[in-house]
Amino acid sequence: MARKFFVGGNFKMNGTTQAIKVIVDDLNNAQLDGSTEVIIAPPAIHLCNVLNTVKPPVQVAAQNAYFKNSGAFTGEISPEQIKDAGVPWVILGHSERRSLFGDTEEVVADKVKASLAAGLKVIACVGETLEEREAGVTNDVVQKQLGAIAKVINESDWNNIVVAYEPVWAIGTGKVATKEQAQEVHHDLRKWLSSTVSPAVGDATRIIYGGSVNAKNCGDLGAAADIDGFLVGGASLKPEFIEIARTKK
Ligand code: PEP
Repeated sequence: MARKFFVGGNFKMNGTTQAIKVIVDDLNNAQLDGSTEVIIAPPAIHLCNVLNTVKPPVQVAAQNAYFKNSGAFTGEISPEQIKDAGVPWVILGHSERRSLFGDTEEVVADKVKASLAAGLKVIACVGETLEEREAGVTNDVVQKQLGAIAKVINESDWNNIVVAYEPVWAIGTGKVATKEQAQEVHHDLRKWLSSTVSPAVGDATRIIYGGSVNAKNCGDLGAAADIDGFLVGGASLKPEFIEIARTKK
């Protein structure tokens, strides 16, 4: 099945109003024809502004959501609030959330479940540390992370999930996975989805790669059979993000 190429830009906690306006203006002036799905995820404080200024086909994502829809949870934003604001996507399970903010596999799964229930589409991130890769347990780690999510959602929910494979050792380090390393994990994740959820879900789910993607390496990585796009951090703040979004041109 043909899976639509997907390129997401995760701004993380970066960007002033003016800096983000420059990025949005550049994207609005770029030749993006909608053949690739392009999503940008600005910090929460800029979400509504970006939503009101960015033009199709570019869409917007939140970088996180809590697993409750309202209440005494100071500092959090809820899936219902994100949906109500008109933001269609949310990134969940990013390694920075897992390692710095205590998002356990169960918390990530609860957030995914609550976000899907609120009508959001989810970019669900998984990835191994360098120690785990060197110990030869990459597949165990990423399949366990995805398994925690699979346990709490239904087969039809997978229509609204993009899986981002982001090796922790490649995020923000300039040390990109080789095409072969990434393809191997993507292929094994797809096989795992096929056998654990269903062959249809394995076939249709987009599995994107994240970790030091830039304009120079996106063509090579994007040519791998099971790499359906990218989640881009640092380079999403630069003009080269447009080149990455046009990988399939
Ligand atoms: C990310 O934050 O999801 C990411 C992949 O970052 P970078 O592209 O900077 O490695």
